[in-house]
Amino acid sequence: MAKSPATSAASPSDTPAMAQFKRFKAEHPGCVLFFRLGDFYELFFDDAVLASKVMGVTLTQRQEGVPMAGVPYHAVETYLRRMVAAGYKVAIADQMELPAEAKGVIKREVVRIVTPGTLTDEAMLDEGRENPLAAVAFSGAGMTQMAALAWAELSTGRFQTMEIQAKDLADELARIAPSEILYADDDSGHAPAALSEAVRGLTVALSARPGWQFRAADAADTLKRQYRVTDLGGLGLAPEVIPPAGAVIAYLLETQKTQADGRLAHVQVPAPFLRGEFLVLDQASLRSLEVVETLRGNQVAGSLLGVFNGSAAPTTAMGKRLLRRWLCYPLAKRAPIEARLNVVEVLVNDELLRQTLRKQLDGIQDIERILGRLAVGRISPRDLVALGKSAAQAHALNYTLGTHPQLAPAAAALAAHLPALAAHGTHIAKACVEAPPLHMREGGLIADGFDADLDESRLLQRDSHTWLAQYQARLVEETGLPKIKVGFNNVFGYYIELSAGQKDKAPANWTRKQTLANNERFITEELKVFEGKVLSAESRAKAREMVLFAELCEATRAVADALSSLAHTAAELDCLVAFAQLSAKRSFTKPVLSDTPSLDVKDGRHPVLDELLGDQFVPNDVRLGGGKATLALITGPNMAGKSTYIRQAALITLLAHTGCFVPAASATIGLTDRIFTRVGSSDELHAGRSTFMVEMSETAHICHHATARSLVVLDEIGRGTSTLDGLSLAWAIAEHIAAVGCRCLFATHYHEITRLALDRPHVANLSVSVREWKDDIVFLHRIIEGATDRSYGIHVAKIAGLPPQVVARANELLAQLTVKHEGEAAAETAPSAKRKKVEPAPAMPLFMMAAAEPHPVVEKLRGVDLNNLTPMAAFELVRKLQDEAKA
Ligand code: ADP
Repeated sequence: MAKSPATSAASPSDTPAMAQFKRFKAEHPGCVLFFRLGDFYELFFDDAVLASKVMGVTLTQRQEGVPMAGVPYHAVETYLRRMVAAGYKVAIADQMELPAEAKGVIKREVVRIVTPGTLTDEAMLDEGRENPLAAVAFSGAGMTQMAALAWAELSTGRFQTMEIQAKDLADELARIAPSEILYADDDSGHAPAALSEAVRGLTVALSARPGWQFRAADAADTLKRQYRVTDLGGLGLAPEVIPPAGAVIAYLLETQKTQADGRLAHVQVPAPFLRGEFLVLDQASLRSLEVVETLRGNQVAGSLLGVFNGSAAPTTAMGKRLLRRWLCYPLAKRAPIEARLNVVEVLVNDELLRQTLRKQLDGIQDIERILGRLAVGRISPRDLVALGKSAAQAHALNYTLGTHPQLAPAAAALAAHLPALAAHGTHIAKACVEAPPLHMREGGLIADGFDADLDESRLLQRDSHTWLAQYQARLVEETGLPKIKVGFNNVFGYYIELSAGQKDKAPANWTRKQTLANNERFITEELKVFEGKVLSAESRAKAREMVLFAELCEATRAVADALSSLAHTAAELDCLVAFAQLSAKRSFTKPVLSDTPSLDVKDGRHPVLDELLGDQFVPNDVRLGGGKATLALITGPNMAGKSTYIRQAALITLLAHTGCFVPAASATIGLTDRIFTRVGSSDELHAGRSTFMVEMSETAHICHHATARSLVVLDEIGRGTSTLDGLSLAWAIAEHIAAVGCRCLFATHYHEITRLALDRPHVANLSVSVREWKDDIVFLHRIIEGATDRSYGIHVAKIAGLPPQVVARANELLAQLTVKHEGEAAAETAPSAKRKKVEPAPAMPLFMMAAAEPHPVVEKLRGVDLNNLTPMAAFELVRKLQDEAKA
């Protein structure tokens, strides 16, 4: 988080408002201060300079050369969003009284601090993404270092904790995706190394907090106050997570200053995250399987999440957020997966039911976030009505769920709350207008006929037009002056207007009020009385509406639990309907879950390419484990479809564990504890680590953690280093994984590794079939049994558009190299060559070394005519070559 620049120190010559500004600035170090002055939020000194850069507002000068920039108060959200997106914290100082009421300087207060992790405003949040705030505390060191993590979403009240080994922190943070992380400040001026390491490559603000907020006793006190308990025992919190959980609450309270009772009622008791309930997807797998965004461009479109679009997209904002979470956290246990699959099955088979549910869900607004805004005192009239309308949907939704026994569990949770929700829906519908205003400033939320007091005041305002017209007519009649006009303006109120020429004809009981160039304005006693009544009616109406609004908020708070339950049911249903919609649209099938760690997919498709290519996509089978080989080595030319095939297997496994149908003709999937995916040499240099280092550290992670229940997908491992190193590493890794016995698909261009299958029954070779056609190749994208040992690299390069002369020269060189090493090399390169039995340790073909790094000694050897060499000359030559080789 970038720090905001300092402002000038307080000075005795400061105006009272400037003194206020400087005090707030000093009280909120690290914040950019938005200072309310009339209809603007003003920024001064370095804040103004910064704001002009970040928000693009004009920089002006106040007297004495103080830099100043301002934004209109009604558009403040747009500017806040820009500041927060750029990583700044903003303190907002509002006027606490009307200028007319102020004695001396207007009373102002900092009412809230806006930071990336504490947003609640609809305009500043993406409805489809959670926006968690996390805190982390470390204990121990080295290999045994632990990280205690707590994360909450202020906008919805979700609050969770977990304790993990520090080395797993990056993986968990990648799934949680917090927008801000708090850590205890140790005066070193930087975040703990383990945290900086874990957030590498993530977009997240790190915020240092006073160390005491992380101290066990202080954190416990904060939590006791928040949950109104004298003892934390009943909350079921592990002692390790109390410091970060307390720090999260302390920060939320500090930023949400509106909490009169010193707590955030909607923030739930932190729930321990139960890792065993979910399939583990580490950071690298999440990224390379493109679960929620693409590797290139970080787009949702093109990712697995992006497949749920159009008619397969969740209808509600809550469903959208939950879908993202479900895809990042597939389930690990059979019962909950099957529960979801069974509901999806009912929905797949009943299109009418799906459409009915979608329509009903469409009427449900973002209840979670509106309840969040209610809790922090920033609910809008529109929000209130949206909640009422959502509550009114509960009954119909429950009825629909009741029509099918498989959906009954979802209905049961909701049933208990139905009467409260229905009553609330009716109450709000009666109390509020159909199209409520954005703010309460001007009133206009409460419907006519709901409140007698309000009706009376409004009647007076509305009737005023009639009364004024009648009054004007009466005055014309009484005075005989036809041009009399009765009017109103904001500054002077009601008046009777005469033209300058007629002003002397005004009756004596008229009092002069204002003289204009062409007119004279007067007031009468009668008009004054009327004015008093109308103006007080207007302010009475506004005040009355505020009271009624507060009452409606209170009534909503009283049914918050019922609304939460509706939110929960709606979000889950929404995801299940989305699963069913996609499954029906793309003819997915219900997977069979098995306790045997096997994978048996018939005619599987890649969910993203399936949608993109339609009938053009070539389905393929996958068979691993369950009596068949557990490790399949996949060889074939570049662009043949190796990566697609292995990812498709991983995505089908992942989807099945989320409870969604899968793109295949049939699929039996052994319950899986982790899916590992590693792609060789992807470019992560921006994250500050060498490509090969990343590749190996992630592969090491797999070697350490893969179990017999894991699915491992390796794509071109070993590519990030020299050929011989890479081949040796890939070979050794394949051997290790084969020994673990987990299901593994290993795509590689190192054909030599395919020999592993010769003496290991649980290793199989697969390849992608390619048809040669004259000088070209056709990719068939079909996976067949057996290895391939040709790369077709030059063919692929030709397709890629390499100039013809380069392609021709490459073919010439390939032919020369191949001929020169006929003996051993031929066995390695010709597709039809018969393989001999091989020793476990492979002899590296000389051809490969020559191709990789042609050495002058090799070149010289090639030119020697052995038939014309005497034994002595041969000895001399060998000695010379050896010297050269040593040099
Ligand atoms: P490789 O890993 O062998 O280099 P990819 O898996 O990246 O190849 O596939 C290259 C391209 O081939 C993909 O972008 C896709 O357009 C196409 N492709 C791959 N598999 C199939 C398939 N089964 N059916 C149709 N097209 C496919």
